[in-house]
Amino acid sequence: MKLLKDKIASEGIVLSGQVLKVDSFLNHQVDPKLMQAIGREFTRRFSDEPITKVLTIESSGIGPGLMTALELDVPLIFARKQKSLTLRDDVFVEKVHSFTKQVTNEVTVSRRYIVPGDTVMIIDDFLAHGEAALGLARIVEQAGARVAGIGIVIEKAFQQGATRLQEAGYRVESLARIRSLEGSVVFEDEPADPSLTCRS
Ligand code: 5GP
Repeated sequence: MKLLKDKIASEGIVLSGQVLKVDSFLNHQVDPKLMQAIGREFTRRFSDEPITKVLTIESSGIGPGLMTALELDVPLIFARKQKSLTLRDDVFVEKVHSFTKQVTNEVTVSRRYIVPGDTVMIIDDFLAHGEAALGLARIVEQAGARVAGIGIVIEKAFQQGATRLQEAGYRVESLARIRSLEGSVVFEDEPADPSLTCRS
């Protein structure tokens, strides 16, 4: 998706060979027009699926997730990372480890919002090792619903997330795929090009 890749190239900051900072349009300040374009692109790519719900994880998945849900005219559900105040029986719970933050969160979704018969599209901002997306997929399966696929805004293709998700049988659609973050951003489907170099 050219608009997104241009934004990454001009505003992304390479923090290390492993981590990209995109605080100016996705992870802190949010660019609504870009989120709208992302929502339209996910909707186009999954137009063959009868999606009934969009599921993401707080907080950075909410922007792209909401715009996708708006475009599809279905509800958005975001999994919570904080401990739920409601009874354990009322929620699906899965452990999700974050390699970026080096913490394991218990993520929860109310049993009221995903039900058998739902076809759920999972959205997240980044795909690294696939922990967050796999945790969300396990929640959909706990609910007896079906995962239509996983939509990722930025995939770090040099990490194992997409392979893990595909081996688990899930369709993955990534709008920008990064081959390397060694000093600068190199996108997967393009030759190394100095014009795509980010500030580092
Ligand atoms: P995974 O669960 O696939 O290992 O990691 C994905 C999650 O970690 C995303 O929800 C995102 O919040 C965070 N994450 C992983 N890598 C990056 C990165 O390079 N930059 C940012 N901003 N977040 C990342």
